Amino acid sequence: MLAEIKGLNEECGVFAIWGHEKAAEMTYYGLHALQHRGQEGAGIVTTDGKKLNLHKGVGLVNDVFSEDEFTRLKGHAAIGHVRYATQGGGGYENVQPLVFRSQKNSMALAHNGNLVNAHALKSQLEAQGSILSTTSDTEVIAHLIKRSGNVQIEEAISSALSMIKGAYAFSILTEDQLFIGLDPRGLRPLSIGRLGDAYVFASETCAFDLIGATYEREVRPGELIVIDNDGFRTSQFTSPLQRTLCSMEYVYFSRPDSDLNELNVHASRKTMGKQLADEAPVIADVVTGVPDSSISAAIGFSEATGIPYELGLIKNRYVGRTFIQPSQELREQGVKMKLSAVRGIVEGKRVVMVDDSIVRGTTSRRIVRLLKEAGATEVHVRIASPPIQNPCYYGIDTSTKGELIASSNSVEEIREIIGADSLAFLSTEGLEESIVADRDMNVHGVCQACFTGNYPTEIYPDTVIPAYKD
Ligand code: SF4
Repeated sequence: MLAEIKGLNEECGVFAIWGHEKAAEMTYYGLHALQHRGQEGAGIVTTDGKKLNLHKGVGLVNDVFSEDEFTRLKGHAAIGHVRYATQGGGGYENVQPLVFRSQKNSMALAHNGNLVNAHALKSQLEAQGSILSTTSDTEVIAHLIKRSGNVQIEEAISSALSMIKGAYAFSILTEDQLFIGLDPRGLRPLSIGRLGDAYVFASETCAFDLIGATYEREVRPGELIVIDNDGFRTSQFTSPLQRTLCSMEYVYFSRPDSDLNELNVHASRKTMGKQLADEAPVIADVVTGVPDSSISAAIGFSEATGIPYELGLIKNRYVGRTFIQPSQELREQGVKMKLSAVRGIVEGKRVVMVDDSIVRGTTSRRIVRLLKEAGATEVHVRIASPPIQNPCYYGIDTSTKGELIASSNSVEEIREIIGADSLAFLSTEGLEESIVADRDMNVHGVCQACFTGNYPTEIYPDTVIPAYKD
């Protein structure tokens, strides 16, 4: 579904490249491919071996960069970032990469995720005299690196990483080195590719495809990679724990043409649709998916049941962005502007409407109504993920617990609220089976905490759930 009307939002996307004469341009294209992960800001930092060059701004990648910038963004290495802004955390100063300049050892940082002990670390840093100028976790990491007292930056980064907890995929660029790292459980996705002799890194492999890079492997949980003129080196800054890659990346966030942890996202969604059909079959005339992210699951549901798949819902791609509209009423208006039911397909039919998830229920209610107004005789809603009952502390905006319709309503109550003739969700076992299948849990395991409440890391009383713009 459409992020801005569903109330689910990814926090950001990371891209990095080392060893390419057009590093800034490649990063620009990479960020284009990752644009769905954040639309509030974008930035690129390059190094030419002597100094870091930065350009960043608020808005879409296309709004932030023009041809002129690339004459200044010189160098053989770059890191880039697209960002979804948190409440009070929007604005230029929080757009990444953040650059920290000093006479020697300037560095730029970009990261994706959320630190569960950021609050405690900020207090500690401030008590020690650090002045934090942004509300971003990225700055906390930078201060920890600067204050660690280790002369070698590699050791300083390892030491800083051992202090932070939560979910993070990060890139750090200095004048002469690139560092890439992933949290010990690999909650956020990060892949390694090659483009000729250059190394590339991206939150999603769709960024590799756009620039013609080939996939090499995933960054391993707890891994710290260093690339410089001496080549590519890797070490573990901590022992890897069982992988718990965010399952919502497969369900909803990532692009269907991306492979996450060596599983294609579209294929995993089709399997989710098939599992859902096995778990909650229904007699109907037509299956339709809510565009875009639910179409794969709808195809899987259709293939498993033999009920034909049709384009019963169409997305209007050229309307304005609705998330800037403040009220619930206007948001619903936004749904109406963005989606249309195809009367010729659904009129007089029993329709299975497959969606990837339900957050607040507002969007589902509106779509059920759209289908019924277009003449559907029955609307059976099938959700290709379990009910979201808990907030995410790892960088995904799933709304607060109170706003999650499944946190305080049974499936039957939700069915009634959204006006469906029947409603079923995929089980947590079915979701895990769709992603992990017979693969090794240690390497391919997933986080399902927003469904189960079993968080894979400690959660502290002062752990902040990012308050997102709505
Ligand atoms: S809690 Fe949910 S959204 Fe957050 S990382 Fe885990 S699966 Fe992803």
